[in-house]
Amino acid sequence: MRSGKSERMRFQLKNVTRRFGNNIAVDAVNVDIPQGQMVGVIGRSGAGKSTLLRMINRLADPTSGSIHFGDSEVSGLRGKSLRNWQRDCAMIFQQFNLVPRLDVLTNVMLGRLNHRSTTLSLLGIFTYEERLMAIAALERLGIEQTAMQPAGTLSGGQQQRVAIARALMQGPKMILADEPIASLDPLNAKIVMDALRDINEREGITVITNLHTLDTARHYCERIIGMAAGRVVFDGSPDELTAAAVQEIYGSDKHGAGIDESMTSTSINVANLPTGETASQSAGPKALALARH
Ligand code: ADP
Repeated sequence: MRSGKSERMRFQLKNVTRRFGNNIAVDAVNVDIPQGQMVGVIGRSGAGKSTLLRMINRLADPTSGSIHFGDSEVSGLRGKSLRNWQRDCAMIFQQFNLVPRLDVLTNVMLGRLNHRSTTLSLLGIFTYEERLMAIAALERLGIEQTAMQPAGTLSGGQQQRVAIARALMQGPKMILADEPIASLDPLNAKIVMDALRDINEREGITVITNLHTLDTARHYCERIIGMAAGRVVFDGSPDELTAAAVQEIYGSDKHGAGIDESMTSTSINVANLPTGETASQSAGPKALALARH
């Protein structure tokens, strides 16, 4: 039986459709996600994965159908309630979406914007506690040494970790990641996926991530949603993702040959890579010094 809390934080898409002109990007999707799941969304390019994620965080609106979180209808939210929802479901993008000329610490603190007054935010005034929180988030991601560097000078893998730290600052109930490792090399892809899994496991935050590679989805996600031409054609555990299911998600190539899993491999050889950099949850002495900076 579900606990009251997980029922309150249950997330549902009901018959959600999104059209762009005559093109149906997302077609009558029904999904029900209890709080705390790690969900991978897979499918060919153009299958509708990104549109689906953008609708959850209301960067795009459904043409029809509705989105619910607990008792609240997300698809009907306006104004402050909509901003609160966008704070509750932090978004991570393939291209990181940091402000390159601002230092890493400020980029992370920008995750607090929806928690504070507009005036303080506009003036860029952050409290000592917010700085500490930001540094603890950076430590957790193993990149506190970059705190004072302009974000644009970091490697792609480091920038994605900054984006995850910023997402943590939002205090989210859900993290939505749109192809978070598509621009990264295998080692950094592993570090980023390990970080998302750690957040999911330790904080019980739901993670929904689009992934273009099957092996990553199989390895990291307890639930996989397969999309093809806007529809959900698979929804189950990695064990249930049979060759026939993979075929239905990815179809055949233009010569009619079946898809081979290796074609969608990231080549993250998960077993052979070093363990992801771990992070302490509390700010250490270096963090305290930076916070006072
Ligand atoms: P995926 O993330 O699986 O690659 P998308 O959600 O980006 O798929 O796209 C699904 C379909 O919707 C594609 O046919 C794409 O061209 C179309 N689409 C997505 N966004 C827009 C848009 N802003 N305007 C017009 N068509 C769009």
